Amino acid sequence: MKKFFQSAAFLLLCIFTPQVYADSIQVRLNDSADKERYVEAVTRGEGYMPWQQQGISEAEQSFRLEIEAMKDEYLSTRTIVTHPALLTKEDLERARRNIEQNDSARKWFDGQKRLADAAANQPPGYVDSMISELTPANTYGFTCPNCVGKESQECAGSSLIDWTPENPDFIRCERCGQNYPDEKYPETAVLRCPRIGQEFTYYLNEQQRFHPEDRTGQYAWHWVGYPMHISFSGIVRTRKCEYMLRAMRSLALVYAMEQDPKHAECAIEILIRLARCYRNWLYHDYWDTIADCDPIYAAWHDRELPLEWKRHLCANAFAKDTLDQASMLQRYWGAGRYHPSTDSISVLASICLAYDLLYNASDAQGNALWTTDMRSIVERDLILEWELGAEPYAGGHKKADNRNNKAPRIYHAQAAVAKCLGIPDLADTALRGYQVVRDESFLDDGFSTESPSYTNMYLSQLLCIPETLHGFKWPKDYPDHQGTADLYKTDRRLELMYRSILDQLRPDGRFLPLSDTNERSSPSAEILEYGLARYPQYFESRLPERLLNALPTEYGIFHFGSLAFSAPGNLIMPEIYFPAWMTAILRHGSGSSSSVVAFPLNPEGGHRHYDNLALFYADSGQTILGDHGYVGDMPVNAWIKSTLSHNLVIVDDKEQVQKGRHPSLLMMATSPGVSVCEASSDQIYDTCSEYRRLLALVKGPDSHTFLVDIFRVTGGAKHSYRVFSELAASDSVEGSVSFEGLSMPDEAPLPQIGGSLEREDIFGLCDVRVTENPPSSWNAIWKQVDRCYRLRMLSPTHCVEASNGPGQRTLNESGRRVRYLDSIRRGENLQSIFVAIHEPCVGNHDMPIQDAQRLEVPPIAGEKAVAIKILSTWGEYIILSEFAEEAIIDGIRFQGRFGVFCRPSGKSAWLFALGAKTLMRDTFGFADARPEWRGEVEKNTDVIVVSTTLKPDKWLDAPEGVQNYVIASDGKYTTGFPLAETGEKEIYTKRFPLPRLNTFEVLAVQYMKE
Ligand SMILES: [Zn+2]
Ligand SMILES: [Zn+2]
Repeated sequence: MKKFFQSAAFLLLCIFTPQVYADSIQVRLNDSADKERYVEAVTRGEGYMPWQQQGISEAEQSFRLEIEAMKDEYLSTRTIVTHPALLTKEDLERARRNIEQNDSARKWFDGQKRLADAAANQPPGYVDSMISELTPANTYGFTCPNCVGKESQECAGSSLIDWTPENPDFIRCERCGQNYPDEKYPETAVLRCPRIGQEFTYYLNEQQRFHPEDRTGQYAWHWVGYPMHISFSGIVRTRKCEYMLRAMRSLALVYAMEQDPKHAECAIEILIRLARCYRNWLYHDYWDTIADCDPIYAAWHDRELPLEWKRHLCANAFAKDTLDQASMLQRYWGAGRYHPSTDSISVLASICLAYDLLYNASDAQGNALWTTDMRSIVERDLILEWELGAEPYAGGHKKADNRNNKAPRIYHAQAAVAKCLGIPDLADTALRGYQVVRDESFLDDGFSTESPSYTNMYLSQLLCIPETLHGFKWPKDYPDHQGTADLYKTDRRLELMYRSILDQLRPDGRFLPLSDTNERSSPSAEILEYGLARYPQYFESRLPERLLNALPTEYGIFHFGSLAFSAPGNLIMPEIYFPAWMTAILRHGSGSSSSVVAFPLNPEGGHRHYDNLALFYADSGQTILGDHGYVGDMPVNAWIKSTLSHNLVIVDDKEQVQKGRHPSLLMMATSPGVSVCEASSDQIYDTCSEYRRLLALVKGPDSHTFLVDIFRVTGGAKHSYRVFSELAASDSVEGSVSFEGLSMPDEAPLPQIGGSLEREDIFGLCDVRVTENPPSSWNAIWKQVDRCYRLRMLSPTHCVEASNGPGQRTLNESGRRVRYLDSIRRGENLQSIFVAIHEPCVGNHDMPIQDAQRLEVPPIAGEKAVAIKILSTWGEYIILSEFAEEAIIDGIRFQGRFGVFCRPSGKSAWLFALGAKTLMRDTFGFADARPEWRGEVEKNTDVIVVSTTLKPDKWLDAPEGVQNYVIASDGKYTTGFPLAETGEKEIYTKRFPLPRLNTFEVLAVQYMKE
């Protein structure tokens, strides 16, 4: 029966599609002059064109019938649902107890109650006045005409908008306090949609008013390159409606807890009003296109609308359209009828929750508040109408092909509809959607193909699907599914996704600001609570305090018997390398002020920066070497994404290649005294044959650290070793940069660019000062009132350049500048070894290193060999890298890839070596060991590699406290996996599942105390 219906629907589509054209042809114009005529008219606010057919078209009408048939079919397969289903009776009981016993829970409920009462106690007509029949407007690209370019940036967006329910008909600029609408900024432009009978008004900026003849859009404000028109009155409609959706949810929750009919009555009134309005809200996109037709028709035919149905105020918006076929400027990704981005479809989950909680609502006399007609309006014109608007974007009716970062919200909404209305096909679609995203947008290590915060964006909706469908009862004989859904038991990748969330965090619980990740962002509190509920073995006592402060959320209040979350006294987070995300995280210390280094190798992926082998470094809880992260869709992102804004070596002033990025992990091992990671990305510059960086985090008392940095580059004619610090930025107190062993011309005052978006203000370095032929070692110090950081440069360079560049990380930081420094070498087919030490101060301004120098290496060690001697307050270190043959230096014999010899103050000596044959001082150390074990992979499972070669004699696995990594290649990438132990031919790994591997290498690790 199901199959038959599907093919029937398919036939319907085939039959009706040609009629769209037939229909269109009747009203079609015939040459480009006619198109111009239309564009000129519509951009000047005209309604029906003289030639335009009026009323609903046949194609629209037939398509509407088809959609209604889909709703019939969904509803006809309903199973019996015991309401409430999305929250159970037990959940409600638990919440009542928590609210009685727990302050946070009571506070949460008081907030819900206030919102519910505020709506329920309004006079009649309130709901209608708050939810308008006229479509809510686009809030993207909001610009405040009163303070743009001064206090705010052009098209900064909706976070600039303040709105309160007490003053519902106005919005207010957060930055300058200007209210809108206001006579000073009248909405004089009109966009008419005569077929559906809606009209929209917009403000024109000064430039547009000065050029009334020019309607191309060139004078409009631009958001990511697109002209935008601001409708203050439209944004007011949006804000009011958003508020009513929140109120509806609160009313339903409060009714469920207290059973006072007044709350149910108001919530139901909102649902019915929403259904009536939603049905006719026009489909529009976030670049200001509006479709003047049945919105469901537009959602399914957004690339093939008759020209006159496409309405836009800018002539340029029609550039790609023909007389026969006009396109919305964005797909459902940036479109919808309530909100122009996937129609904010996650709201549908809230609507389902409300309907579910209100399903059995009755008045004071015990009479049901629902009639059959009312139910039908909510189920059909609101819930299924909203859901069906999303289906084409997921791939078609009942399809789940889309795996991008906005797709999970569709599948989540479908899961909620499925559970609330009891529709198994929607549960099945949601589950298939979850699987396609899990398998294709997530990697083997639980991280997505995008950035930390975009991984969170995926997960914040994706993880709702197993959670919502948990306990969903499949009907008997349903294909592919039986019994009750429970993914937590069976889904290994789900577990990996959960674990990756915690292990990647900064010590205070924020994400590392890598790739497109805002400096302030942290994982969604709900995800953490799902984790606590479903994977307590990983989540309990593992959350940084700052994250615990955000708990409990509503989920916890309904699902946890106890809300006493235990905060670990001194949380130690793992040093880790993510094998598929290819990012190493080194750490030292415990608690929120511990230290962390992030080393992104970063293969290609969405929302990633061009930053192979960049460096992020926070010491004792403070960011020293930053990454600008992400400001949102703003022009400043060009700099933020760019290779040029990162802490790395820039070759020939160029960007790293963007396609075909194939970084490799070369070594990784962690220990209590030092942790080391080396990686290369040799093809990242066309002109380079080597691009390789080694980072060694040296660990002192408490959380104190310094970082040794050896960057080897071969090829190209100019190598710029670039560093910027978050310290001494323009928003710091008494920020400055100074030099030791180097004279640099005086610094000009940092530029004051305010909210400017001019290219030279938001991209590249300026006020460049130069010192030619610096000595072979010198220091630079970034200093502000409470902290400083010293860069010790131990390499000969041709010149040093100091400058400043854009440092904006959040919308509030427009105009922020940071101080950059370049150590530059020039020459043909240049070979460079940059050796530097990053030295954060201890406390306010005490520097831990008294002296650091390069030791002269005997030629026999090879031309890549590096030896450094560091005298610090917590010990003397000799750091040795890449000795091809054995050499003696400062009384130490060494041959191998990496070695550290340390004499801590007042304690016995220790050494650490990775891939070394010999490391010996007098009688302490080892000699003639096998430095590595490598071979082909005969076969491997998820956690066992079987080698074609035998383990070398006298091989020792890592001692206690040391974690080694096996370096392995699957033919595409060379990456690493944490090593558990080794057998004769076997290598056992842990934590991450192994892909099918071809070759491997284990570097011998040694960590010994005298
Ligand atoms: Zn303003
Ligand atoms: Zn970055």
